[in-house]
Amino acid sequence: MKNIVFATSNKDKVREIKEMIAGKNVDVYSLKDIGFDEDVEETGTTFTENAVIKAKAVADYILKNKPEYKDTIVLADDSGLEIDYYDKAPGIYSHRWLGECSYPQAMQDVIDDMKDVPDEKRTCRFVCSMAAIVLPDEVITSLETCEGIVNREIIGENGFGYDPFFYKPEFGCTTAQMTPEQKNEISHRGKALRSILAKLDDYLK
Ligand code: IMP
Repeated sequence: MKNIVFATSNKDKVREIKEMIAGKNVDVYSLKDIGFDEDVEETGTTFTENAVIKAKAVADYILKNKPEYKDTIVLADDSGLEIDYYDKAPGIYSHRWLGECSYPQAMQDVIDDMKDVPDEKRTCRFVCSMAAIVLPDEVITSLETCEGIVNREIIGENGFGYDPFFYKPEFGCTTAQMTPEQKNEISHRGKALRSILAKLDDYLK
């Protein structure tokens, strides 16, 4: 049995990943499980750089402090929302973009600001880069996107973050109106995780 340590403190992401990994012969651990509580600064300029920075920090910690986890793959992701009307902002700054604002307020501000923007110019996407470090030091990455439209209102109770205004025309709803299973099928993170698990297949046997 192989261990995966998922380098995030975001409970929603851990839940999503555990749902997707269920059925594989892999034990999934969180940062809390391995006693990692450092704040890793995201100093990269791309999603992939940030994902690798996070994964490396955790890999270094395990190598130094947790020899019992040496058969581990560390996974880390970095994700965010790109809105074409704002030249792909907030991008890697998706969380920091909020400042003191709540998500509903930030989304409402965007909706108000874009009220005269026609549908064809409301394109946006969630992006996720997933980085894996197979200890001690092999780095593997995957980058995936999920395309959508900035909706004209906030709808839906599921998901998190910007889901309630992320409209998927082919489904006729926002990602916050999807079940977790539906969202995992089409989400940037679902796709990036499946893609990296496929690349890691030989290590997970
Ligand atoms: P990260 O934790 O640095 O990857 O920051 C990602 C940020 O992007 C989150 O805090 C959300 O604001 C946004 N984000 C990423 N993925 C999603 C998603 O699936 N739904 C809604 N917002 C997301």
